[in-house]
Amino acid sequence: MSQPKRKSVYKVDFAKEFQGIKKGKEDYHAHCIPCKDEINLAAMGKTAIKQHQEKPKHKENAKAVATTRYFTASKGVQVRLLDMESLPGEDSTMVANFIIQVLGKHQLQFENLVSFCADNAPVNFGGPQLAGPNNVFKKLQEKKKNLIPVGCSAHILHNAAQKAADRVPVDIEAIVFKLASYFKGSTRRHEDFKDICNFLEVNYETIPSHGPTRWLTLGKVIDRVLKLWDPLTTLFTSKDKSPRILEEFFSSDESLPVLQFLHSVLAVFEKPLLLLQEFYTTVIEYIDKWFRVEFLPTNISWIMLSKKSVDYYDIVEMAG
Ligand SMILES: [Zn+2]
Repeated sequence: MSQPKRKSVYKVDFAKEFQGIKKGKEDYHAHCIPCKDEINLAAMGKTAIKQHQEKPKHKENAKAVATTRYFTASKGVQVRLLDMESLPGEDSTMVANFIIQVLGKHQLQFENLVSFCADNAPVNFGGPQLAGPNNVFKKLQEKKKNLIPVGCSAHILHNAAQKAADRVPVDIEAIVFKLASYFKGSTRRHEDFKDICNFLEVNYETIPSHGPTRWLTLGKVIDRVLKLWDPLTTLFTSKDKSPRILEEFFSSDESLPVLQFLHSVLAVFEKPLLLLQEFYTTVIEYIDKWFRVEFLPTNISWIMLSKKSVDYYDIVEMAG
């Protein structure tokens, strides 16, 4: 009798080894981000990831793009596309070699490379601690010691805001997604809601959609929900068989203060996020804006921020 073979599971290191790979729906799957595909690891382990990355579909989806940003006295900051290529395996060595080869092809000196910018994926920088030798940055740094790593700061700001919002008593993202799905594709529901708005003399507006990795869009949705607070409350508390999560949210006394709190805090993140997403902003301009106090929030008290931990209930109390 043959022994049943042990099934292979996902390992955290796969994300460092392969570009665009994260944990899948459960332990036996990896997820390919560019293809939005689940890769079954049970039988072959990481060989299955390698085989997936060999497929034409994956190669089409996962193109590596090299752009350069440089400065000239006459033209200022310039951004140019250098090359675009399908990398079959996309491990850190391949990406590093791709960059070296592209620079060579355009006769750009590696010594003139100041920094390496990429998203914060472990394969690019080895995680927040810049740990381990198996990442693109470490491999490029072997050629130039003083190379500066530049991850995506907008993403870090976004994560900070999201982690904090996860601690308030209401799961606001769940509410926002449920609201969007409630109105999606139903003219009748829009019409009913319009009637309530007219009755309450509130300007009818639709709820904007929110993407899970975009903190800015959440701010816009919260802004709209606050404007439509009364008609939405009427809609979801007076109707038979409203989605329970919405009925409970709009009936709870706690929801409005939480929403107003998030609205106020999100505004603090908005300006720096918008600036970070601009195409030609330089670090120097960014720091300059910070020190000119342009970004200092005016809508929350600095006394609160200087406290080591600000409790949600403290803020509700202060607001009251
Ligand atoms: Zn893929």
